[in-house]
Amino acid sequence: MRVVAIDGPAASGKSSTAKAVARVLGFHHLDSGALYRTLTRVALDAGLDPDNLDVPVLLAKADLRGLGLRPEEEDFVPLLDGAPAEHLIRTPEVTAAVSAVSAVPEVRDWANARMRALAEAGVPIVVDGRDIGSVVFPEAGLKIFLYAKSVVRAMRRLAQQGGKEPTNEEIFAEAERLKARDKADASRPVAPLISPEDAVELDTSRMTFEEQVDGIVRLARTVYQLPSP
Ligand code: C5P
Repeated sequence: MRVVAIDGPAASGKSSTAKAVARVLGFHHLDSGALYRTLTRVALDAGLDPDNLDVPVLLAKADLRGLGLRPEEEDFVPLLDGAPAEHLIRTPEVTAAVSAVSAVPEVRDWANARMRALAEAGVPIVVDGRDIGSVVFPEAGLKIFLYAKSVVRAMRRLAQQGGKEPTNEEIFAEAERLKARDKADASRPVAPLISPEDAVELDTSRMTFEEQVDGIVRLARTVYQLPSP
């Protein structure tokens, strides 16, 4: 099983980094947050209360709507009702509810089983999330913990969203939202956000995107004895 696990707090650049690393290595990229976000979309659409979740109903609805992952280039695209769901899962409403949904143990069991099935099928993957190296793939040959200061993460997140230059107030407000989500993710009893002991920690506050991707690619090539081009 070839797995590169990338964990870290909100907006630490995990997904874009994982995707780029997967592309260079010829692996697939699996964004575990997208699975939790898609389930959260289903819960909200069904009128379920994220803080008091009826899990059997949620999982039945997810099944009915064909919640799944479709391989597309180096990515797995989340699907709902037979169509890509990306635009439905990156909304403020989903972002506000996802920590509550993902804190439910049965929801995590469901997501973990899906992720492990992919790896067991022999697909080499770069997986990003909060508990990938600690819980989902503790045997991963390479574990990375990516982080950056909350203000840096807030500036990157706002820049990603485009639009006009954010004011200092907008940057600080975004940093506060990120910190609140990190706190919820790090303080939950099940699979909290942690840096696994055997992870390589990368503070990307002063690194360029290319530097962080390159660093992880080199480590992965060494660990999995992959040829360099
Ligand atoms: O990575 P992203 O910000 O899209 O993740 C959304 C949410 O999904 C996180 O805030 C966290 O609550 C949850 N999540 C998780 N475990 C993972 C990945 C994401 O609990 N492995």
